[in-house]
Amino acid sequence: MDELRSKLFYEQKNGYDLIDTEERLKVEDYCKGYMDYLNRSRMEREAVANAIEQAEDLGFVEYVPGMALKAGDKIYKNNRGKALILAVIGKKPLSEGAVIAGAHVDSPRIDLKQVTLYEQDEMAYFKTHYYGGIKKYQWVTIPLELHGAVALKSGEVVNVVIGREKDEPKFVITDLLPHLAADQMKKTMAEGFTGEGLNILLGSTPYADEGKDRVKLAVMSILNDMYGITEEDFLSAELAAVPAFDVCEIGLDRSLIGGYGHDDRVCAYAELRALFDVQDPERTCVCILADKEETGSDGVTGMQSACFDVFMKDLCESQGVALRRCYEKSFCLSADVSNAFDPLYPEVSEKRSDSKVNYGMAICKFTGARGKGGTSDASAEVVAYLRRLFERENVVWQMAELGKVDQGGGGTIAKYMANRNIDTIDAGVPVLSMHAPFEVVAKFDCYMTYKGVLAAYADK
Ligand code: MN
Ligand code: MN
Repeated sequence: MDELRSKLFYEQKNGYDLIDTEERLKVEDYCKGYMDYLNRSRMEREAVANAIEQAEDLGFVEYVPGMALKAGDKIYKNNRGKALILAVIGKKPLSEGAVIAGAHVDSPRIDLKQVTLYEQDEMAYFKTHYYGGIKKYQWVTIPLELHGAVALKSGEVVNVVIGREKDEPKFVITDLLPHLAADQMKKTMAEGFTGEGLNILLGSTPYADEGKDRVKLAVMSILNDMYGITEEDFLSAELAAVPAFDVCEIGLDRSLIGGYGHDDRVCAYAELRALFDVQDPERTCVCILADKEETGSDGVTGMQSACFDVFMKDLCESQGVALRRCYEKSFCLSADVSNAFDPLYPEVSEKRSDSKVNYGMAICKFTGARGKGGTSDASAEVVAYLRRLFERENVVWQMAELGKVDQGGGGTIAKYMANRNIDTIDAGVPVLSMHAPFEVVAKFDCYMTYKGVLAAYADK
């Protein structure tokens, strides 16, 4: 019976039972690189700049339309500093399709409003408008740092980072003391904090002079000293407060990584490293670091933007290939995180189908909500291809679904790729506390996601 059971039943194993010491060392080595990248990439602009820096070190050059390209050439297209497409040209023509991996580098955060700075009762604050799906209560009373860019009237762009370095000041959104919170505590978690209530504390010292708004004046003059900006310059700024926690190992066994923005830089980094490591690929390999996924992939730097099509069309035209012919033969891993089953909250999950920590790269055949609404739903044939590929390349992977049926749901960039007539499937790293200021992933799953993307890139 045991023999029959093992022949007929599908059984998953903990990933650590499937790798040897040598591979465990590779997991550690890979994750060191990831932790460093994540620590330095706290906004999409930084994730893109850091990716370009690494790519250029490895011989990638900025793509110029009309450029003559041959197999092995490494190029990138910087989309307005906020999204990035990189490619390694394959030996086969693009009429055979490309192998695409697409992740996003934006993460939930607290954006500053355009008219943001104000003084109230001799304290200075930033007004904010949160970005992406957050549970607001998680973002108060934690240290925040400020990141982003200010575009000046002159056309010059000033990059801002305050709070990343140990000795730099941080920021915070305050909360009520429990002693006076009787009314607040009666509210639901959704009502406890309002969007307009997420105001960031900036300072408390008045400018040494007479007149109104002296604390605001003092704060603005510090910013003017640091960056040469005035209050009006906030009108054309993209500034955000993000958690000021360093990326670190979690657990006595150091098997997990805690940090802000795993969703989805953990997959972005996996793609990048896979693209850097693929040797003489047969098909052209394309790596996308998209922006705006957390707000629906709209906009010029989101995955619905024509920027990707323009780039691919340029490559196709250089080989005399029609874009539509390339797309219909292409394959895309929509590399995005999944929810890891959390033993503390089993009630929202259906244990058999949720992805588990340390069980490897999580493949979602479909996403969506309320009867798979809004999913692109990869075909059975595409899943079968991955089964074949991952078995051959020893990639530990698991099938995943986002919680119980009708519990909730979500989407990724997958449908925007599939709508282009590209076979697409979601695949990525399971995350605990997804969208919280401090998310947790397992080192094993990070490494296996890299290995999975590399297997796809390197496939004949
Ligand atoms: Mn995501
Ligand atoms: Mn997300």
